[in-house]
Amino acid sequence: MLHPVICIDGPAASGKSTVARLVAKDLGFVYVDTGAMYRAFTFLTLEAGHDPFSRERIRQLLAKVDFHAEIRDGEMVLRQGQRDLASYTRLPEVNAAVSPVSSLPELREYLVNIQRKLRLSAPLVMEGRDIGTVVCSDSPHKFFIDACPKVRAERRQKQGERDNLAARDKLDSSRAAAPLIRAADAVLLDSGTADARSLADLIVQRFQASRSPAPTVP
Ligand code: C5P
Repeated sequence: MLHPVICIDGPAASGKSTVARLVAKDLGFVYVDTGAMYRAFTFLTLEAGHDPFSRERIRQLLAKVDFHAEIRDGEMVLRQGQRDLASYTRLPEVNAAVSPVSSLPELREYLVNIQRKLRLSAPLVMEGRDIGTVVCSDSPHKFFIDACPKVRAERRQKQGERDNLAARDKLDSSRAAAPLIRAADAVLLDSGTADARSLADLIVQRFQASRSPAPTVP
């Protein structure tokens, strides 16, 4: 059985992770960060000494990598063999290389398959760039969180991370395979004018309203 999934897409540092975590906690759903999957694979590419622009090298790695994304105790765990990859996903060199690596169609197909299978395990809040348009395009619960570049740059600076947001956004939005775009049926939310708590409340309310039975006419 496929469980419900709330799709949250948006550009880098739009605040979508904070909102997605709050929504998952409120509803008791599992939070799935698909960016972390692309990041983990980017780390493995760099660790193997491969050029992140070399499609051939990444294809070779994909053919033999022992990569797993699974839900354990209500949380998504990423591992290579028995090694937990969580601590490698936010490195500055991963920030710099993740967009070119993510543009490879074969890698996207591989990870999209994994992401879709997670819907068999539990109800999810899944965040990324192509969740509403590709991964779970059949879901009626789609949100796109955005904010102006200045707000996003300030947010990332406060987090103390080195990250060229403009370069990532440009590559993510212009790539041929599953570019970052808002699904036509996604609700647009601005994290520059509303805080994470109120955006999460809005998503939870909309989700619950869509699930409650229509009132019966006496
Ligand atoms: O969400 P986050 O900023 O961690 O994502 C890192 C990168 O992973 C993005 O810049 C994008 O290149 C890639 N990504 C993607 N598709 C997704 C999630 C992330 O291409 N669904």
